[in-house]
Amino acid sequence: MQAAVYFAPGNIELVERPEPAPTDDNLLLDVLCCAICGTDVKLATIGHARCKAPRVIGHEFVGRIRHVGAAVNGFRAGERVTMATTLTCGACPWCRRGLGNLCAECESVGLTYDGAFAPVLAIPPAGVARGNVIKIPDALADEAACLAEPLSCAINAQEIAGIRPGDRVLVVGGGPLGALHAELAKALGAARVMIVQRSEPRLSLLRRLKDVLVIDGTQDVLKRVQAETDGLGADVAIVCAPERPPQEQAIHLVRKGGVVSLFASLPQGASDLRLDSRAIHYRELRLVGASDSRAEHVRKAVELLASGRIDAAGVVTHRFPLSRFHEGIEVMKKKQGLKVVIYPGKRCD
Ligand SMILES: [Zn+2]
Ligand SMILES: [Zn+2]
Repeated sequence: MQAAVYFAPGNIELVERPEPAPTDDNLLLDVLCCAICGTDVKLATIGHARCKAPRVIGHEFVGRIRHVGAAVNGFRAGERVTMATTLTCGACPWCRRGLGNLCAECESVGLTYDGAFAPVLAIPPAGVARGNVIKIPDALADEAACLAEPLSCAINAQEIAGIRPGDRVLVVGGGPLGALHAELAKALGAARVMIVQRSEPRLSLLRRLKDVLVIDGTQDVLKRVQAETDGLGADVAIVCAPERPPQEQAIHLVRKGGVVSLFASLPQGASDLRLDSRAIHYRELRLVGASDSRAEHVRKAVELLASGRIDAAGVVTHRFPLSRFHEGIEVMKKKQGLKVVIYPGKRCD
């Protein structure tokens, strides 16, 4: 089969690989589609510390089961599934605190196990046994279902930020995750959702999302946010832009007692911020992080997507067959769209 294989930082090639073998304790899937993640773009540029080459990458997938190991219970051939792709150890201090997404010993499909930019994917026995495989309801389309993993990361972040119905939520950075954050905040009952983006064509793509106020980031964002929030500032700001200036500015965009979530990570060695500690102190701000997600978040994401409350069609802007994988990566790198979905098994138009 043809697969997108990571060989070294910046070097991903489409090569022939043997199909994964069925075993008594695994599942094999025909991959229906798999979205390109920011992590894949990192692999295509600077690499990733945890990815062991050579590796088939791709972890935001939905697939149809073609083989169920004799020792596997609860699944049938023909069912569609996605997966919480982080396999936690279950024993470290973080797993024991219920923070499996921070597990120090975790393995991941698409980084340490072969992933889904290939027509056939093997779900490793540990993933099957630990409840990481999640069924897709009939009502949920393939392409929307492959957003479950990125959406799950947004769910983890908004849980930590404590978003409540009626909140005014500001998303800074209108890439695919920013768009999903905006959709999620609406679904969680936010009264007003604003998103800041600097460049086209993302500005125009974001304007298609319903009930999301798109703010042009090249203008005076502080003034605009104040005007939209009775001069108070947003209840919560979620920074999805992997750059210093928006992370530093965010504390000035939230109200007293507000929350800033640093959702996007900055590159290693360039992650120091200059923050006005008086603003944090006197305005009682909370600055929180968020990284990855747990299986419970992926389950919630599937439910939310199936409920139709997330505009998946508005978030997916590009589709390519696997043979045009590198074009998909270029679209992401050049910020020409929002989410890019790859179809490894069948043609897509
Ligand atoms: Zn991802
Ligand atoms: Zn652990």
